Amino acid sequence: MRLVYSAKYRVDIGTHVFATAKYGLVLEHLRASGWLDRASVIEPTAAGWDDLARVHGRVYLDKLRRGHLTPYEVARLEVPWSAETVEGFRLMTGGTIAAARAARDHGAAVHLGGGFHHAFRDHGEGFCVFNDVAVAVEALRAEGRLRRAAIVDCDVHHGNGTAAIFANDPDVFTLSIHQARNYPAIKPPSRIDIHLDDGTGDEEYLERLAPALDEALGSSPDLVFYLAGADPYFDDQLGGLALTLQGLRRRDALVLGAAARASVPVVVTLAGGYARRLEDTVTIHAATVEEACKAARAL
Ligand SMILES: [Zn+2]
Repeated sequence: MRLVYSAKYRVDIGTHVFATAKYGLVLEHLRASGWLDRASVIEPTAAGWDDLARVHGRVYLDKLRRGHLTPYEVARLEVPWSAETVEGFRLMTGGTIAAARAARDHGAAVHLGGGFHHAFRDHGEGFCVFNDVAVAVEALRAEGRLRRAAIVDCDVHHGNGTAAIFANDPDVFTLSIHQARNYPAIKPPSRIDIHLDDGTGDEEYLERLAPALDEALGSSPDLVFYLAGADPYFDDQLGGLALTLQGLRRRDALVLGAAARASVPVVVTLAGGYARRLEDTVTIHAATVEEACKAARAL
């Protein structure tokens, strides 16, 4: 299994519910449990500004480069602007591109980062500066390595930026399964949106996800992007669903197994995760990597 990761993902954004330390902790967890022995780690390079410009508007990118975001734009982003923050997110976006390439070459890859699905073409919001998955879709298309993609977004929050970016693109199938009564307030339609009630648990979640997944894979994608958010977890600070550790692992196995059976390569990004206990977030993300290794071996 190819794992994309950089120690530089630990960006200093002050005291924040988004613990950028989680990425390194996931790697350490995998090392301690022996799973890292089955992986090779790829160090990414930052996404170029030209890569970003395939998705994001020049005005927005210029504001980020020069530190010219308005106070409203910074407030909407919900992370403080700094040159280091911008570089950190540019690197993480490069990580998703690298993981997407590795998945196309080897059938599967995991990015220990990414999943910034709230970033729109012309602005960032909700801790998401660049829409890394959209940038990776366009990078691989520009390289002629991708025609159709499916984006399976299992973060507890709706993938609003991704849905808006690909709203008029018939070759990108967007699926979002999320808590209905949660951020973002306005949810631009994905191809399939599954709006779940507060407190939805493992069984209903998996029953609702399975047929939608079949439909996404039925669109004959060349690559599936799986946003394996840890925040549908019952003890998440920003989520109101009730999945257990075991339920989240079954979700991962469902998505990864379905893609493997359909012989579609998968690239995993971690997306959100804000459990009250940071170690729970780390355990959930590490379990996703383990399930990806198992699914890849079953190919
Ligand atoms: Zn989230």
